Amino acid sequence: MAHTAQDLATFCKKKGFMYPSSEIYGGLAGFYDYGHLGTLLKRKFEQSWRDYFLGLDRNYVEIDTAQIMPEAVFKASGHLENFSDPTVHCSRCDFSDRADHLIQRAIKQRVEGLSPPEMTSLIEQRKLKCPKCAAALRPVTAFNMMFPVSLGVGTTQRAFLRPETAQSPYVNFKLQHELQRKKMPLGLALIGKAFRNEISPRNLTLRLREFTQAELQIFFNPRLISKHPSFASVKNYKLRVLLEEDRQKGLPAERTAADLVKRGLPEFYVYHLVVIQKFYFEVLKIAPSAFRFYQLDDKEKAFYNKYHFDVEVELADHGFTELGGLHYRTDHDLGGHHKISKQNLEVLDEESGEKYLPHVLELSFGVDRNVYALLDVAFDDHKQRGNIVLHLPPSLTPYLCAVFPLVKNKEELVAKAEEVDALLQKHQFRPLYDEVASIGRRYARADEIGVKYCLTVDFESLSDGAVTVRDRETTEQKRVPIAHLSEYLRTSQ
Ligand code: ATP
Repeated sequence: MAHTAQDLATFCKKKGFMYPSSEIYGGLAGFYDYGHLGTLLKRKFEQSWRDYFLGLDRNYVEIDTAQIMPEAVFKASGHLENFSDPTVHCSRCDFSDRADHLIQRAIKQRVEGLSPPEMTSLIEQRKLKCPKCAAALRPVTAFNMMFPVSLGVGTTQRAFLRPETAQSPYVNFKLQHELQRKKMPLGLALIGKAFRNEISPRNLTLRLREFTQAELQIFFNPRLISKHPSFASVKNYKLRVLLEEDRQKGLPAERTAADLVKRGLPEFYVYHLVVIQKFYFEVLKIAPSAFRFYQLDDKEKAFYNKYHFDVEVELADHGFTELGGLHYRTDHDLGGHHKISKQNLEVLDEESGEKYLPHVLELSFGVDRNVYALLDVAFDDHKQRGNIVLHLPPSLTPYLCAVFPLVKNKEELVAKAEEVDALLQKHQFRPLYDEVASIGRRYARADEIGVKYCLTVDFESLSDGAVTVRDRETTEQKRVPIAHLSEYLRTSQ
């Protein structure tokens, strides 16, 4: 039987993957802490993301920047004026929610992108009431989601916690472009925190007020958007996309990259759809049937995005859920910073001698949503085994391997197990070490946190110098010499 979102929440809390922050004081809505296992998983996701996306091009580099930025940044980006969500309040009780979410739940249709007056009319037409007390709802209003911060004492300077990591690479562009010897396209990757005063944070780490984003901003000459030098190598690659025109059918169609280009999307954009899908299939090992790109229509996408596809993965109880997006932001951001900062952000095209303002293609991912998705798709309440099995990919799972002495009251076994543990530590595996309870119980505990290989040191190990390796997926066991363990673990991932 499929699990529910509540099963996953209970499991995450019990095993300490993630839980409400400051819980001993009752917690704070929209803030979560990762425990030891969750932190290992999150860091491995981040490292896989980094290895994959920085590996795309030598001119893609990573930066790490401040999270508080001056008001001028958000004047230039438009966040000061436009970064708001439609909010609806009850006329009687304290209920409030994001208006688009409330309507969507009631009429089972996406209404993102409608204006507050349009949402108010829809609420009236459909006679929607407060879900808590059934009273009338107030007209929908816009609520700015940025967190202002006051700096020092007696200063009038206004600053904000950044609502997206993206603005940091934009304000770093000029300097980084020079440091990278003016080579284009330039990619600036950043894994960092973003802060949004969400109206109704919920669903563990799916909607937080403080969250981590992993984003790659690619700055390029807009003249080159219709071509990508490696497009020929991906033209027959099949993308799972739900195009605007296919929505009525409700199913994602498989369309080749070449087909999408024929339908009017530029090669440079489509090439990156392929890059993202490959990351989900080949690195995160998401099943194709649980993945799709969702094309946003003009009403849904931000006004500055010329093309916008969300990356969605199907989750228990939530259905297809946005985990990221590919946004062609044009010169909206650099144009704004060029104007407001009064710094010239144009670059020179060596070939034509022309000066131009680079355009930006943004590959954006929410780390916390991806971690949630990894746990959700890996979660398996395994009836036969009588325990949960977490089928996380070996490269992402918190512990690739665990070392067990068969019994803990035999000194020679414990000493040998500690030797194996130390050897693997030396080879950077950081195994889990567990000597408590029966082997069966330890296998079950290891399954529950996604350990891929359990290595048991038994009496035979003392004479044959080998251990029993049990595979989480098949439960098959085989003998592997201790001297070959590192090699075995490295090649079996
Ligand atoms: P939504 O429509 O769900 O509010 P968004 O379209 O505003 O999200 P973006 O601004 O495109 O999101 O942010 C990029 C990514 O950051 C999202 O795809 C998501 O994975 C993540 N993200 C955005 N808001 C949150 C949040 N409140 N909590 C956790 N992750 C978030």
